[in-house]
Amino acid sequence: MLENVVEFFRYLPAKNCVECGEAIEEQHECYGSKCDNCMDPGKY
Ligand SMILES: [Zn+2]
Repeated sequence: MLENVVEFFRYLPAKNCVECGEAIEEQHECYGSKCDNCMDPGKY
């Protein structure tokens, strides 16, 4: 029943920023769990 696993991930809620709670559209690993506004601009 691998299809169930796919369905599970499809319906996962959007990631939210741990700082401000803003929904994070990007799912890149490098973004961690913070949105653009809360990421340290000095590291960019
Ligand atoms: Zn944020």
